[in-house]
Amino acid sequence: MNSITHTSVPFDASAKYALVLHGGAGTIIKANMTTEMEMAYKDALNEALTIGEKILKAGGTSIDAVDNVIRFMEDCPLFNAGRGSVFTHEGHVEHDASFMNGFDMSAGAVTGIKMIKYPISAARAVMENSEHVFLSGQGAEQFAIEQGVEKADPSYFYTEQRWLALQRILQSEDQGTELSEDADNQKHGTVGCVALDIKGNIAAGTSTGGMTNKKFGRIGDSPIIGAGTYADNKTCGVSSTGHGEFFIRFTVARDIAALMEYKGLSLKQASDEVIYNKLTQNGGLGGVVALDVFGNIAMPFNTEGMYRGYIRPGERVVGMYREED
Ligand code: ASP
Repeated sequence: MNSITHTSVPFDASAKYALVLHGGAGTIIKANMTTEMEMAYKDALNEALTIGEKILKAGGTSIDAVDNVIRFMEDCPLFNAGRGSVFTHEGHVEHDASFMNGFDMSAGAVTGIKMIKYPISAARAVMENSEHVFLSGQGAEQFAIEQGVEKADPSYFYTEQRWLALQRILQSEDQGTELSEDADNQKHGTVGCVALDIKGNIAAGTSTGGMTNKKFGRIGDSPIIGAGTYADNKTCGVSSTGHGEFFIRFTVARDIAALMEYKGLSLKQASDEVIYNKLTQNGGLGGVVALDVFGNIAMPFNTEGMYRGYIRPGERVVGMYREED
């Protein structure tokens, strides 16, 4: 178990529990969306929130809530994670995922895995049952299988929509043409969830197929603790989505927590600063979902849209487009 223990911060009991999630950020515009697609996304986001809410309401842990919410999203072909993952340049699916526990700052991550049905549970197994934080490729698969995480044949991850998205990109590369906005939008995506349980513990997780046409074993931010995922009961939990190369360089998730820890900023101030100032000024696109130990929630993004939602006792919000919360 890889952990540093520190005292947890007093919990505002009136907040009880909270959970926030995302299904990726990008060029999500109402005009490009059919009513059926919009409904399908909203239903999936609502279902994911309900899964998390049931666990938290019954006194379950934030870790179980994050794991189960993300497993549902990994099963849903609408999102670029698990079954709905995008294809690499060579036509494979390679998953990245990470998990962090804000109580003791233990963390686990996997990258480049191809045959594990629920990559988020592989990351959780690394966090809970290994002496390491970050495992890659075949070693990560072997560890996950030994831990009893379910396997899946690579064909399980084939979806026609993602395959066609790769073909469109390969064709535009061949012909030297620009990608349409819609095709560009289908290049990425990620799922992520941050939860606060009734004991005041925060957990965060992120899972993705990465970016369509990724080459040379490219790894994005999603499995990188401090970039794609972060959780610390002292400050907040964060899950990122967007152009991974920028999120890695600006250590986006940790930067938000650091602004709260060292400068005393609120969750909103810290996450707005990192997404709207630092990331945007440097040309990075994407967003985060985050919550603090008081149950405050932030969902800033600088793209046209972000699939997102949160629940707190008596409160539920689901959004996709910019002007919605
Ligand atoms: N952050 C992911 C990556 O770079 C992609 C995304 O969230 O859209 O792999």
